[in-house]
Amino acid sequence: MIDSVRVRVPAKINLRLSVGPLRADGYHDLVTVFHAVGLYDEISITRVGAGSGVSAQVAGEDASAVPVDDDNIAVRAVREAAHRARQPTDLAITITKCIPVAGGMAGGSADAAAALVGCAALWPGTLRADDLAGIAAALGSDVPFLLDGGTMIGTGRGEILTPVLAQGGFNWVIAVSDNGLSTPGVYAELDRLRAGADVPPPSGDDALLRALRAGDAKALARRLHNDLQSAALSLRPTLARVLDAGIELGALGGIVSGSGPTCAFLARDRDHALDIAVGLTTTGLVRLVRHAAGPVDGARVIA
Ligand code: ATP
Repeated sequence: MIDSVRVRVPAKINLRLSVGPLRADGYHDLVTVFHAVGLYDEISITRVGAGSGVSAQVAGEDASAVPVDDDNIAVRAVREAAHRARQPTDLAITITKCIPVAGGMAGGSADAAAALVGCAALWPGTLRADDLAGIAAALGSDVPFLLDGGTMIGTGRGEILTPVLAQGGFNWVIAVSDNGLSTPGVYAELDRLRAGADVPPPSGDDALLRALRAGDAKALARRLHNDLQSAALSLRPTLARVLDAGIELGALGGIVSGSGPTCAFLARDRDHALDIAVGLTTTGLVRLVRHAAGPVDGARVIA
């Protein structure tokens, strides 16, 4: 029996995010193409003495913005997994954040996926893949994707997944802004901007899938699309300058990641990405800039 497990989990960007009309239950139907990129949080889960209960601590970038009680989605994931596996919840969780908080890269969902994979490793034979997928979908619509990673189409609220054939890898530049944006706030702004308009159902994009199959970065750059981008720009107009700066520096394409404010730029190759990253850093428009390759695997045990 192992006493401790360490899991690494990537962030996601949406290569396409098509948002349907507001539903009566307050949600939106989506058609999205998730793409896991190599920007990672790490979670360790350690058994502690009987009666200690669950505790969490958070280190790394933006740590102070992340709750350490049951509002932390990784804590909720561990409690759900323990309940399903009929295991004690005497566990200490440590989260080391590198994924920007409230950045539109699904950092919280990533931590939840990592927590589920960690619990499955701590308690072998107690949690099947479909148990994990069920708990993940109940926790949040991005969580199921981060169990697997890669590149996938998400429908429903994003939790119904179909793998996409993608050839080779892509090089991204991730530009992280100073303050986060609230995902519900960005959806509400989209609804406000669309008020009175006849919003079509969400749709996929065959040309985007062809570009992924061909491993063609230029063609992929032309097909990047995010319906939430106008809402994120409306709430944070300075993001337009970030997007313009990335394109002026030679990026093949640029997009707001999910609900923002993080922006993702597609480069020709690794060296090109590093050049764009250096250029963006010197603009002073963003807090930090990272190179990240995609697609990468989802949550995986590393120790
Ligand atoms: P998404 O892209 O899934 O819409 P996001 O990446 O924009 O989400 P998160 O980093 O997941 O945003 O954080 C959203 C909020 O969730 C934060 O403001 C924070 O208070 C809360 N939160 C709860 N648990 C976590 C966690 N483990 N990591 C980060 N934020 C968390």
